[in-house]
Amino acid sequence: MRIQTIFLIACRQATAALVLTVLLVASALLGQICAAPSTRSFLRLNQAGIQVDLSRSRPLQTWKPQIQAYSMRHYGEARWHLVPRCIVLHYTASSSFPWNLVQSGNFAGEAPGLASHYVVDGLKVWQILPPTVRSRGAYGINHRALNIEMVALDQADLARNRKKTLESTARLVADLASRFKIPLEEVYSHEEVATMDPSCVPWVLDLVNPGPYDKIDPGRANMAKIRARVDDLLQ
Ligand SMILES: [Zn+2]
Repeated sequence: MRIQTIFLIACRQATAALVLTVLLVASALLGQICAAPSTRSFLRLNQAGIQVDLSRSRPLQTWKPQIQAYSMRHYGEARWHLVPRCIVLHYTASSSFPWNLVQSGNFAGEAPGLASHYVVDGLKVWQILPPTVRSRGAYGINHRALNIEMVALDQADLARNRKKTLESTARLVADLASRFKIPLEEVYSHEEVATMDPSCVPWVLDLVNPGPYDKIDPGRANMAKIRARVDDLLQ
């Protein structure tokens, strides 16, 4: 009897251990599947010599409720989650990393501060926000757009002195476009978004102030160059 009891307990323990092992293996596999898109994405950029850095990311526990309230006021959608439909390109109007995109708590008297998804500087890509979270990078389109800032003082600086930044940006755009199924026609300049004209950019919307505003970044020649390169990379 005693031996039978011991045998029964041993069997139960073995079954429990087996179930636990199966669960652990399944969760590890699921984790790999879920992590696959971003890992693959970084790999492709890494292979081109581009380093993606997450160390200057915005803390999401404060960002999410603030951008959700912003989205409700400006787009009528109480959401922080982003399903990217287009990509908007900018320059930072600075010669080095724009710390305001990481540190500002508000802009024009409204939270959250300004923040794009990515800042590109040479062979470095800083991810400020993940691509599935809404940014505050381009007035009138933050509910649909991924925003990418290129470190440059102005159009001429970007065109003449920042060739690696242009190339890294084209690679990042191509990568995001294929990941999120965004066609090349949905890659816009901030200048185009600022027209607030749906015939130019179909997604533009703002419930507070729907009027056009002034932006010239990142420059038409730079846009043409990046679009041609992205087209190349997507072939
Ligand atoms: Zn801009």
